[in-house]
Amino acid sequence: MKPIRKFTVRAVVPAPLSALEELAGNLRWSWHEPTRRLFEHIDPETWATSGRDPVAFLGEVDPAKLEEFAADEQYVAWAERERAALREYLTEPRWYQSLGDDAPRVIAYFSPEFGITEALPQYSGGLGILAGDHLKAASDLGVPIVAVGLFYKAGYFSQSISPDGWQQERYPVQDPDGLPLSLVRGPDGSAVQITLGLPAGGALAARVWRARVGRVDLLLLDTDVPANSDDLRSVTDRLYGGGGEHRLLQELLLGVGGVRALRAWAEITGTSFPGVFHMNEGHAGFLGLERISAFIGEGLSFVEALQVVRASTVFTTHTPVPAGIDRFDRALVERYLTETLLPAIKPADALALGVEPGADPATSAFNMAVMGLRLAQHANGVSKLHGDVSRRMFGSLWPGFDADEVPITSVTNGVHAPTWTDPAVLALAEETLGTADPEHADWLSPALENASLWAVKRRMRVQLVEDARRRLEASWTSQHSGAAAPEWLGRVLDPDALTIGFARRVPTYKRLTLMLQDPERLKAILTDPERPVQFVIAGKSHPADDEGKRLIQRLVQFAQQPELRERIVFLPDYDMGMAATLYPGCDVWLNNPLRPLEACGTSGMKAALNGALNLSILDGWWAEFAEEDYGWVIPSADRAGDAAERDALEAAALYDLIEHRIMPKFFDRDSDDVPADWVGMLRSTLANLAPELGADRMVREYVDRLYRHAWRHTVEVTADLARGARELAAFTARVRAAWPGVSVVHVESGGIDTPHVGDELRLRALVELGSLSPDDVQVEVVSGRSTADEVIVDPQREALELVNAKDATGPRAYEGAVTLDRAGGFGYTVRVVPKHPLLQSAAELGLVTVAQ
Ligand SMILES: *Cc1c(COP(=O)(O)O)cnc(C)c1O
Repeated sequence: MKPIRKFTVRAVVPAPLSALEELAGNLRWSWHEPTRRLFEHIDPETWATSGRDPVAFLGEVDPAKLEEFAADEQYVAWAERERAALREYLTEPRWYQSLGDDAPRVIAYFSPEFGITEALPQYSGGLGILAGDHLKAASDLGVPIVAVGLFYKAGYFSQSISPDGWQQERYPVQDPDGLPLSLVRGPDGSAVQITLGLPAGGALAARVWRARVGRVDLLLLDTDVPANSDDLRSVTDRLYGGGGEHRLLQELLLGVGGVRALRAWAEITGTSFPGVFHMNEGHAGFLGLERISAFIGEGLSFVEALQVVRASTVFTTHTPVPAGIDRFDRALVERYLTETLLPAIKPADALALGVEPGADPATSAFNMAVMGLRLAQHANGVSKLHGDVSRRMFGSLWPGFDADEVPITSVTNGVHAPTWTDPAVLALAEETLGTADPEHADWLSPALENASLWAVKRRMRVQLVEDARRRLEASWTSQHSGAAAPEWLGRVLDPDALTIGFARRVPTYKRLTLMLQDPERLKAILTDPERPVQFVIAGKSHPADDEGKRLIQRLVQFAQQPELRERIVFLPDYDMGMAATLYPGCDVWLNNPLRPLEACGTSGMKAALNGALNLSILDGWWAEFAEEDYGWVIPSADRAGDAAERDALEAAALYDLIEHRIMPKFFDRDSDDVPADWVGMLRSTLANLAPELGADRMVREYVDRLYRHAWRHTVEVTADLARGARELAAFTARVRAAWPGVSVVHVESGGIDTPHVGDELRLRALVELGSLSPDDVQVEVVSGRSTADEVIVDPQREALELVNAKDATGPRAYEGAVTLDRAGGFGYTVRVVPKHPLLQSAAELGLVTVAQ
C-alpha cells in the first residue's frame, strides 16, 4: 500500500554521541574522509545502503547499535575529537583572514544550482558542481561567502533507461526534513518568509533553508509554503523544469528574493550585509534590480544606483552556446517587472538592461547574460580560451572596441581536491608523506615504486567494475519487473582492461556519439583479442531534448550487442556519487566537444586528480594544460568543410590515437606486468598536473582579481554618500549626450621617407570635442603590425598630449610619437575615448571615436 504522505522522523541520538549530530549537520563531511569513517565504523552496511549520508544514516541505523557505541568510551572519545576538529576548522583564522581590511567582509554568491553531495541533489551538471566546489574551497580558505540558491522539491531528475534505450525521467520528491538543512527562523522562532509582489496584486512567498557547507552558509528559497496557491507552490518544483513563465518566476525568486533573504539573514545573525555580489551565470541577474531598488530608496537615482551595483557585482559567464543562455519574451518580463515587485524602478529602465545589442528595443528578447554584463563591472569566462570566445561573443556590447579591450577576463575553473580525490589516492599520500593533503604540491614521492602506484590504480578500477555491475543489475531488475538479472551482467567489464570513460550532460556539442562514427572500427578496438579495451559511459539528456535522448539511445543500442555488451556499458543516472567512483576507475578520460564550445569542462580535471590520462579535443581547460605527459590531444578539424566532415576527421583521429598510441603504451608491460611508461605519465599527472587544478587556486584568483577589486571600487563610489556614484552617473550622461559632437578632424605625421626599425614617427591630431573639455577624454594613438586585411594586430595604445591647452574654442591639438619597433607592415590610427578616474576600462561606456 502506498502512503498518502511521507515525512522523515529524525533519529534520537543518545546523549554521549551528540557529536555525531553536530558532525552530520555540517556538509563538511562530504569532503572530510575522517568524519565519514567515524560514521561508517558504526555499521558499514547501513552506511553503504544509506548512500554514505550521515543524516540518512542516523535515521536508518539500528538504535541498538547507537546505544552500543554510546557506551564505548573509545568511540565516544573519537567522536569528540572529530567534533573538536570541526569546531576548530570553523573558527580558526585561515588564508582570507591574513588579507587585512582591504577585502569585503561578506561576499554573496548566487547560483541556480549547487552540487555539494549526491545526498542534496540540487544540481544538473557542471555549473552546479562548480558552485559546490567554489563554496567548499571558499570554506577551506576562510573566504566569507554567503551563498544563495533555490530549493527544488524534486531536484533535477533521476534517469533510467528503457530496454530499447530511451531515457526515462523520474522526479523523486526531496523531504527537506530528511536532508542536512534547517529552516531559517526569526528571533521569535517563526520561519522567515520572503515575499515578492506579483502582477494584479498577487504575491509569491518563500521560506528559506540553510545548509552549512563548512564555514559557508547556503540559503535556499523554497515556495512550497501554505501562503502560496498550488500554482505558486510549484515554482521551485524542479531545476530547469518548465519554460518561459515558470523559469522567469524561478529567476525572479532567486535574484530579487535572494537579496531579500540575505537582508533577513544579516539581521537575524547580526552579520554584515554582503559588499560584493557574484552571479554564477545570468540566471540570478535580477539581484541587481533588487539592489538598485533599495539604493533608490536611500536617495540615489536609477543611474546612480546602477553605478554602485556595477561596482560591486561580479558576473561569470559559463557558455558560448546560445541555448545555455536564458532569453525571455519581452512582454512576459514586462508583465512582471512592475513597481509592485521593484519599488521605485521604472519598468522601462529595467527592461532596457536586457535588450540585445543591435536589436529593436521594443521587440528584443530579454537576455539574462546581457543584463548580467550591464549590471556587473567585473566579468569573466571560465578558461583562457573561453575568455577569448566571450570577448568576441559579447563584443557588440562595447561597439567600436577590439576584442582584446572587451572588459571580460577569465578565471579558469578548478575542482575541489578533497572532494574529488579517491580515498585510495589519499591513503597513498598518507603512507608516503604522513599527510593526506592532496593539495600538497609534491606529495608523490619518487621513491614510490611503479608497482605500488599501479596497484592503487587497479584497486580503483576494481571498485568501478563492481559499482558498474551493481548499477546495471539494479537497472535491469527495475526495467524487467523485478526479474533476476542475467548471468552475463555479472561479467561486464574487466578490472584489467584499458578503461576509457566518458560522462557528461548530453547537449549536441559534447558529441556523445562521436565514437560511433565508424562502428566497425570501434568494434574492432573493443574486441581486440590480445589487448582488452572497454568503455564506460554515462550522461543525462535534458528532459525536453529529444535529440539528446536519441544520441543516448544510439549508444545504448550499440552497447547491447551481445559481442560487445561486456566491453561497453552505459550507466544510468550519472550523478556525483557515480562520478566519485567513475573518474578514479578510468585509465583514460575522453572529451570530444566541438571546439570551442566547451567553456571549461571539469570532469577531466577530476579524472586527472585520480591518475586518469586525458584524451581530449584542445578545448576549455585542456587547451591550457595539455602536455605529452598528461595525455593526448585529439586534433580539431577546424578547417573541415562541414559538420559531418569535421566529425569524421576528428573521430578518425580519435581511433588512431587509441589504436596506435594509447593501446600500445598501456599494454607495454615490464617483468612485473606494469606498464612503466604509462605509470610515468600517471605519476606526472598526479604530481604535476593535479596540483594546478584545485578549486583553491580558482577561489584565490576570484578573491585577488575580482572580489577585492570590486570591493575597492565599491568603497570609492559609495564614500561620502555615494559621491563617486553620483559623479560617475553625471559624467556618463553628459559624455553620452555630447559624444556625437566628438570627431578626429585631422591627423598629420612627421613623415619618414624610408622608415626603419627604431625610427620615431611624430604625430599631431586635431580633435573636435564639442561641448566636452579635454579633461573628459583621452586621445590615443593605436599602432601595430598591419596585415593585408587592414586591421591592426596586437595594437599598442598610447595617449597623445594636449598642446594648445589655453585655446578655449575650435579643435584641440594633440601630439605624440610612436616608435617603429618591428619590421614589416605597420599601421596606426588615432581615437578618442572617455576618461574618468572611476572608469575601470576605456571600453566601459562603449563610446569611441576613431579617425576616418
Ligand atoms: C564534474 C561533473 C560534471 C561536469 O563535467 P564536464 O566535464 O564539465 O561536463 C557533470 N556531472 C557530474 C556528476 C560531475 O561530477
